[in-house]
Amino acid sequence: MMSTKVSADDDRLEFRKAKSPNRLIVEEALQDDNSVVGLHPLTMEKLDIFKYDTILIKGKRRRNTICTAVDDDTCDASKIRMNKVVRSNLRLRLGDLVSVKICNDVVNATKMHVLPLHDTIEGITGNLFDVYLKPYFLGHYRPVRKGDLFLVRGGMRSVEFKVVDTEPGEYCHITPKTEIFCEGEPLKREDEDRLNDVGYEDVGGVRKQLGQIREVVELPLRHPQIFKALGVKPPKGILLYGPPGTGKTLLARAIANETGCYFLCINGPEIMSKMAGESEMNLREAFNVAEKNAPSIIFIDEIDSIAPKREKTHGEVEKRIVSQLLTLMDGMKSRAHVMVIGATNRPNSIDPALRRSGRFDKEIDIGVPDEVGRLEVLRIHTKNMKLAEDVNLETVARETHGFVGADLAALCTEGAMQCIREKMDLIDLEEDTIDAEVLSSMYVTNENLNAAVAI
Ligand code: ADP
Repeated sequence: MMSTKVSADDDRLEFRKAKSPNRLIVEEALQDDNSVVGLHPLTMEKLDIFKYDTILIKGKRRRNTICTAVDDDTCDASKIRMNKVVRSNLRLRLGDLVSVKICNDVVNATKMHVLPLHDTIEGITGNLFDVYLKPYFLGHYRPVRKGDLFLVRGGMRSVEFKVVDTEPGEYCHITPKTEIFCEGEPLKREDEDRLNDVGYEDVGGVRKQLGQIREVVELPLRHPQIFKALGVKPPKGILLYGPPGTGKTLLARAIANETGCYFLCINGPEIMSKMAGESEMNLREAFNVAEKNAPSIIFIDEIDSIAPKREKTHGEVEKRIVSQLLTLMDGMKSRAHVMVIGATNRPNSIDPALRRSGRFDKEIDIGVPDEVGRLEVLRIHTKNMKLAEDVNLETVARETHGFVGADLAALCTEGAMQCIREKMDLIDLEEDTIDAEVLSSMYVTNENLNAAVAI
């Protein structure tokens, strides 16, 4: 009896040891492909995975999917790189743990039925198959999992589809022989996250700052117990400063989405009220809501307007609201799972008491982007556009000195508008919807973008 027990324990120990190498931490993808995940060559070797093998990845809430593995020596050996679509299908956030293993029983699909999500095809009609599905699947031998969503870019927008059915199995490869159907009513969205919700990859030119923010914000929101165990106070807030339109709000929203936090946005000037006590009440209410929905992020835009230096302000309302904010932030001792992100263009004009440790513990400069940053932002905002051969985003980035993210976003939209205006004769303005093929036949040209820069 004794010996049996010992060997059983040994087995369990062996099992545990063997189990750990296939547990990996989710990291952002370098290239935005819905079917590919990146692993360090050493990790692949350890797990007996070869390049282009299909692997099964287990996520949260009993979700799993299959992807093609490729080697990526920029990926840490303990991590796995995957894009937002894969993360969403697995109900994962960055930093979560997954387990992976080789998947040998994937069959070639004879048939696949996919349907678009209705809110992503609003305003377009026509042949979704030719415009979106054919180029997406043709020649890619993509692995698919029944029930998964995927996002396809093209025709000036991105469309989401769901794999409704696959034959003969739930895990398939789509080959040139697979018959793909997309007939049927578009699907209503259930509680799935939108695949095109803002994430880290949608904010450009702020890589360094993003790293700093993630360091301060993610850990306390995701694992408040670590701070408790160590007996240190978790940071409660950070201050982002920089000119309007540099992406402060976008960053805060991306953090909330990526960490799965509830996001509450307070606009400084809007919360102010002349009614006695009302501004403070609004603020208290916001903190209450944030706490109820924790983990959450409270974003206070234009914080200088509600918390100016008390000695400089004559307004009673401002004085009271500053002390209310201080009280609320100081009261957050045990509330590590609520983080306040303040944004301002004028960090020196806010009350210094707020900038003391224990309140906004860290200040991060979100400045005007340089040429490399501008290029990143331009790439982000042209993701859904077809660009003509002659378009060189590097040149556009070089020629837009002084542009902030919002200016560059507007430039891209204007470029697309120019292109649409030129093709006006192809669009039937009497119709409420535009044909997908017409949209997809449009290329934004260098001339379009130059015209937009000049505006
Ligand atoms: P801020 O809060 O700093 O005033 P926002 O985040 O409101 O700026 O930016 C407005 C819009 O401009 C964003 O929704 C986005 O479309 C675009 N934008 C601004 N900064 C960036 C950036 N760094 N990367 C990508 N897009 C940006």
